Amino acid sequence: MIHSLVLFDIDATLITTSRTGIKAMGVAGRALFGEGFDENRVEYAGRLDPLIIADLLAAHGLPVTAEHTHRFRDLYRHHLQSLLQAHPGSAKPCPGVPELLDRLAREPSVTLGLLTGNFPETGDIKLRASGVDPGRFAIHVWGSDSPHSPPARDHLPPVGMTRYRERTGRELPARRVTVIGDTPHDIRCAKVHGCRSIGVATGHFSREELARSGADLAVDTLADTEAVARWLTDHAA
Ligand SMILES: [Mg+2]
Repeated sequence: MIHSLVLFDIDATLITTSRTGIKAMGVAGRALFGEGFDENRVEYAGRLDPLIIADLLAAHGLPVTAEHTHRFRDLYRHHLQSLLQAHPGSAKPCPGVPELLDRLAREPSVTLGLLTGNFPETGDIKLRASGVDPGRFAIHVWGSDSPHSPPARDHLPPVGMTRYRERTGRELPARRVTVIGDTPHDIRCAKVHGCRSIGVATGHFSREELARSGADLAVDTLADTEAVARWLTDHAA
């Protein structure tokens, strides 16, 4: 049996929260720093939450201290939870995701994982609100898991491969690891380590843009369950 690991991004890949995550950052920022706080000053897609918070603080002339970061992270979690509870239905899986997860769960050679810019506590909240059980994923790599400073998404695939080895006792060649995501950041973090990647155009980037950024497979959605599952389990190449 040829073993493999599939690492899914969360936002705009597995699920959408209809920008509730970004709104919660704004509510948290205004509660901490006043009404002038504007969450729309920074880039979000495909980026790590610790970097997003640092950028938000810097964009408002606030020092990026451990204290500010910690309080922001805590209040962001609180408001994310409240907003998602107040607006049921704003979080849902992207097209084809529940079917693809069910299909891959029947492949004993495939291990499912997460590779995301989210913090563990907020990634967990978003998945649960969308009806996706975080427990379906054996390997979790979060936005706060980079072993380097400053952190970067490019640091995360080796973390996933190490956790896979610790969990299974097996060493996995990079070509047996696939990163699935909706931005060129997801594609690049796979490419720099020799992992495969699928770009899915359910976020801000088109299939063509994801293909140009180097995705080994680029699709409009993950709805063609059989085609995606076949590609993931075909290791002839
Ligand atoms: Mg994403």
